Amino acid sequence: MPNQNRTLETAETRIRPIFQELENVLYVNQRKVLEAFRTHRVASHHFAPTTGYGYNDSGRETLEHIYADLFGGECALVRSQIISGTHALSACLQSMLIAGDLLVSAAHRPYDTLYRVITGPRGLVARGIRYHEVPLAANGSWNPDGLREALLAAPRLLLVQRSAGYHPERQALSIADIEDIVRLKNELSSETIVLVDNCYGEFVEVREPCQVGADLTAGSLIKNPGGGLSPGGGYIVGRESLVEQVADYLVAPGLGFEIGPSLYDLRIVYQGLFLAPQVVCEALKTAHLVASAMDLAGYAVRPGWDARRTDIVQAVVLPGVSQLLAFARTVQAFSPVESHVKPEFAPLPGYEHDVVMAAGTFVQGSSIELSCDAPGRSPYIAFVQGGLTYAHGRLVVEELLKLVTSDSF
Ligand SMILES: *Cc1c(COP(=O)(O)O)cnc(C)c1O
Repeated sequence: MPNQNRTLETAETRIRPIFQELENVLYVNQRKVLEAFRTHRVASHHFAPTTGYGYNDSGRETLEHIYADLFGGECALVRSQIISGTHALSACLQSMLIAGDLLVSAAHRPYDTLYRVITGPRGLVARGIRYHEVPLAANGSWNPDGLREALLAAPRLLLVQRSAGYHPERQALSIADIEDIVRLKNELSSETIVLVDNCYGEFVEVREPCQVGADLTAGSLIKNPGGGLSPGGGYIVGRESLVEQVADYLVAPGLGFEIGPSLYDLRIVYQGLFLAPQVVCEALKTAHLVASAMDLAGYAVRPGWDARRTDIVQAVVLPGVSQLLAFARTVQAFSPVESHVKPEFAPLPGYEHDVVMAAGTFVQGSSIELSCDAPGRSPYIAFVQGGLTYAHGRLVVEELLKLVTSDSF
């Protein structure tokens, strides 16, 4: 016991200077969010749900203006009718691409569920869209030579995934990386549409993808921008003509911007967005503590405990499948909801391998709440993300340290 406490203290002490930097980002982002709320004169009447067609839903319209401002686009769709991040990104891809078009993934294979949208049955490739993945550079980041070559074929769309996903070696792409990718694209193939999968990246840095030239970006409201309160939904932000094209696809031509009832009280979506910069900061502090503590306990972590981040995901490399399961079960056992449930490996729709998921969350599957996913394949990596409060994250790390330093682990 005393040893683990000392490890926790050491782990925390050495990341304190990083906390200061995280808080500096928080202050910038909190100001930005507040300014957007003030500019658009958010008022309690915006929270009232609408029904049916949802014509003139001022709550929806105002929320979409705020998202457009915050994420640097001309306009936005923010809808409860968008079920998930995959749904938002799939709609972008499906509405932009027709048979014969070339789709390029800028840095290796996209997230499992999107890979299926592209290559699965009834996916894009089955519908005649050509698809190319640019391999990673040796260090796991994006590969300028490979991308240059791919851009010479003038793809219709370049898909850039900010977060690393479930890849054992891939690095997440920072906003500066995305800026370089856009610059290269503008040089070589200016007509190519850049779509950024922003899942897990919102509010981690002070700029967002469209602010460095991406044409479209999309994500999930049960991740960062929902602030842990949003009960669901997704967003798409970008150039007006493109967002309109996605809206026409999602709803019906000519109607996408006009209809779409809120159905439920939008207060929690607004309030979640207001809290999101703070919640993301708590999740990042938790990610650094997980990395710092597991590193001290002798396990490889990615990113490194002191590395600057562009997403909230922390990977911990464990020796085998039984340790993976025990790790996930510990996260679950110290969750506020369903703490008595023991997660198991199981198939998950859209994922190639069986996955164990610890998500003792208030919102089902919410991964801005502290959660842990691990595909049952080698190398055995637990992906930890979220944490509504650092205090909860710290408590779970204390338990994880007990687990990984025990003789039976
Ligand atoms: C979560 C995530 C998605 C979308 O997943 P949903 O569960 O459908 O919201 C897409 N890409 C990345 C990198 C993600 O982390």
